[in-house]
Amino acid sequence: MLQAATSRSVDVFEKLEQVGEGTYGQVYMARNRLDGEIVALKKVRMDNEKEGFPITAIREIKILKTLDHKNVIKLKEIVTSKVRSPNKTSIYMVFEYMDHDLTGLADRPGIKFTVPQIKCYMKQLLTGLTYCHLNNILHRDIKGSNLLIDNQGVLKLADFGLARPCALENSKTLTNRVITLWYRPPELLLGTQTYGPAVDMWSAGCIFAELLYGKPILPVRDEVEQLDLIFKLCGSPVADEWPEYRELPWSKKYTKQKPFQRRTHEVFRRFPLSARNLIDGLLALNPRKRMTAKDALDSDYFWEEPMPCSPQDLPKYEPSHEFQTRKRRQVRFWCPWCLW
Ligand code: AMP
Repeated sequence: MLQAATSRSVDVFEKLEQVGEGTYGQVYMARNRLDGEIVALKKVRMDNEKEGFPITAIREIKILKTLDHKNVIKLKEIVTSKVRSPNKTSIYMVFEYMDHDLTGLADRPGIKFTVPQIKCYMKQLLTGLTYCHLNNILHRDIKGSNLLIDNQGVLKLADFGLARPCALENSKTLTNRVITLWYRPPELLLGTQTYGPAVDMWSAGCIFAELLYGKPILPVRDEVEQLDLIFKLCGSPVADEWPEYRELPWSKKYTKQKPFQRRTHEVFRRFPLSARNLIDGLLALNPRKRMTAKDALDSDYFWEEPMPCSPQDLPKYEPSHEFQTRKRRQVRFWCPWCLW
């Protein structure tokens, strides 16, 4: 599958600078020495070489090879470093190069996205998700630093290291230890092991609210705080709305004496009704009632003035990746919308 024996050497590329540090390896901007093309090289981390090629990378490559869409990052080829000893081969994935990631871009000093710009990014995120979900792929790590944007304004879903095919039969269980905490939906925090595309839609809702609000909306330190903050914003789960909640493995652990009311419309009162309705649909506690990517694209928000701009009409920016802007950014673990 990897065709390592026939793959080209990484020496075809000249590494220019490190632009990212993923969970599974460093990412470099590089130039193809033959035709000058700029690409991204993602090194596959071989932490435990005895166990061979990491299963996460095999999964990522396998999934990326099946996907072909303008809003999904394109894997161009696999290259290997010079083989000194067969066990010491480094493997790199070669991707089209993207100038920014959404977190890096949003963190640039003085950047304030316009409404047509937010609509344009959200439409592309939802179009990419519609495609993945139609092809039965769950991304399972939607967050700003995994949404890459080029200088033509095209947004692409990247980092499929945690992605996997949907469990088609209910009997198949999946891990609930996926999705970066601030973007993780309540059903995973409550321990479910049977889930589907709705997990990515919760993350998309967090991104949307963050784009409007200008800050992450659910920034916390651990799982318990995360669930608490979700319930403070979205209300405590009630049997009428989410009957399956009580059956989730860890639901008993999180029982609060005083139930919270849903506050999404109050917290996001500065935004138009169509935006609040979209946030509400994506941040539905019950995954069965959560909007799908296709429903979200059909929502009024995208069809009323101001209309989304076209990607090519977006402003051009200097390159910005979260890896570089992280040094500037202070990570704050306090909630921007609650006063306690
Ligand atoms: P990943 O391990 O795929 O999450 O990548 C980590 C970081 O590297 C991302 O947040 C991006 O800033 C950067 N990166 C990943 N892929 C690319 C790419 N194709 N072009 C430019 N930067 C990338």
